[in-house]
Amino acid sequence: MLCRHELDGKRAQRLTRHLAQAHFSMVRTLADFDFKAQPSVNPDQVRDLEAGRWIAHAENLLLLGPPRVGKTHLAIGLGRAADEADDSVLFVAASSLMVQLQQAHDTDTWDACLNRYVKPKLLIIDEFGYLPVPPQTAHLLFQLVAARYERGSILLTSNQGLVDWGRTLGDDVVATAILDRLLHHSQVITIQGDSYRLRTKRRAGMVSSRDPAPTPASTT
Ligand code: ADP
Ligand code: MG
Repeated sequence: MLCRHELDGKRAQRLTRHLAQAHFSMVRTLADFDFKAQPSVNPDQVRDLEAGRWIAHAENLLLLGPPRVGKTHLAIGLGRAADEADDSVLFVAASSLMVQLQQAHDTDTWDACLNRYVKPKLLIIDEFGYLPVPPQTAHLLFQLVAARYERGSILLTSNQGLVDWGRTLGDDVVATAILDRLLHHSQVITIQGDSYRLRTKRRAGMVSSRDPAPTPASTT
């Protein structure tokens, strides 16, 4: 009993340390995700992803869809599951990642920066596409994606369809090169529909089904 107690304590400590190292933007788990409210997400697919084989095989996952449909929630839930399985995880907002890559390039700290983002088994890049990426930074993102290719998983969330990446990155050639590597061994989940909160309010009869969905500007 004492041994089990000790092991449980060690495990809990390790998880706390891993969660702190992952830098998730909010506390969310897959258990909190209401699949009934989001019928475009297949619970079996998420359960399969939760088992982590895609991370063991260094595959990627793209979660696409409009704002407030649960992309970041699912990303963090899967990240947490990976943490619990002792895989190293790092979560970063795409906008922050772009700034860090550019700064590292400009201040000769590129190798350390690249290493930070190549090392974890799972790198979560959240909210790609909300801000345009300067073309010189797009090249740095390509270097990161290329360095992780077939070595570590990337989970990327985006409100942009894949066809819009050329515009976001200001360069069609770089966009194609990045997508080529990201998509080679990957799953893409496209979440459709309204914001989660609007949907739950509708179900509760608090707003009419004719009310328009809020614009991204008013929901983020
Ligand atoms: P997105 O990243 O797609 O913009 P988020 O994951 O940030 O959306 O979701 C917005 C809020 O709604 C979060 O607080 C999230 O936990 C909650 N949410 C979204 N979808 C669901 C769901 N299906 N079940 C439970 N909570 C959800
Ligand atoms: Mg989000």
